[in-house]
Amino acid sequence: MPSHLCDLILADGHSVIGVDNFLTGNPRNIAHLQGNGRFQFLQADVCQPLPGLPAIDCVIHAASPASPKDYYEYPIETLDVGSIASRNLLEIAKTNGARYLVTSTSECYGDPLEHPQVETYWGNVNPVGPRSCYDESKRFAEAITMAYHRKHGVRTNIARIFNTYGPRMKLNDGRVVPQFLDQALHGKPITIYGDGLQTRSFCYVSDLVRGLYLLSQSEERYPVNVGNPVELTMLEFAQRIQRLTGSASRIVHEPLPQDDPKRRRPDITKARSILGWEPVVSLEDGLKQTIAYFQST
Ligand code: UDP
Repeated sequence: MPSHLCDLILADGHSVIGVDNFLTGNPRNIAHLQGNGRFQFLQADVCQPLPGLPAIDCVIHAASPASPKDYYEYPIETLDVGSIASRNLLEIAKTNGARYLVTSTSECYGDPLEHPQVETYWGNVNPVGPRSCYDESKRFAEAITMAYHRKHGVRTNIARIFNTYGPRMKLNDGRVVPQFLDQALHGKPITIYGDGLQTRSFCYVSDLVRGLYLLSQSEERYPVNVGNPVELTMLEFAQRIQRLTGSASRIVHEPLPQDDPKRRRPDITKARSILGWEPVVSLEDGLKQTIAYFQST
């Protein structure tokens, strides 16, 4: 997602300094920006000091493993990037008098007991389960963001991002969209975890980054859900992928990971009213774009 956000901000005429240590990201996603005079890149860990930065007017903290597969593999790095890096980047925003936006997550709601999820819901998170490295890291990131706003007056925004997909994801990312597409396109069995009746709501990346960009210019300090409210079960999703790819892959069931949220769907009333934002790309169109990307790579 961050490379798409860079594209949008650059297209709006601004300069961008991208920072990534490529723990889970891919340099190929920013290769097209080489030679763009308004784009600079630092290969660095945002948990470390970043000396020598020029004056900055907006800091966007979008660093973190985001796939369950990745944060199970890198739990400590995931906790560090929500905590240490948040502190580091908030200090940079404070010193520069810059705006600050952090990309939080629907995982703050855990396995939600309220449906759909409204920003005022406090969530149902297992603090010691395998997903806690991600969930609690993002919850800390939200808490320290509010603390910097309250204590130091930093102009902060918090986006709670729901499931997102699109070109530039890794085929072996582990999340359900690339995983099912990889399986369908390569004749492998489509692996549904559990009975497949758990739900998710998928937002296409261009819709997401437009929402984030609008939020970064708003004065809303409390979290705002950014996601697509069209909800479907993983079984329905697998069938949709079979149809769109024309795949003969069969569906198989594998064990459901621990604490896998049963239902997830954003209430986007707040984003609609304060940002005038809502998704415009249908799942069908977004998946076609994503399939075309995976077929061309
Ligand atoms: N899932 C699945 N098969 C897969 C990968 C994921 O059935 O091969 C399910 C997973 O159990 C979850 C949903 O798809 O219910 C979304 O998983 P993902 O890893 O994309 O992200 P999450 O929403 O859990 O963070």
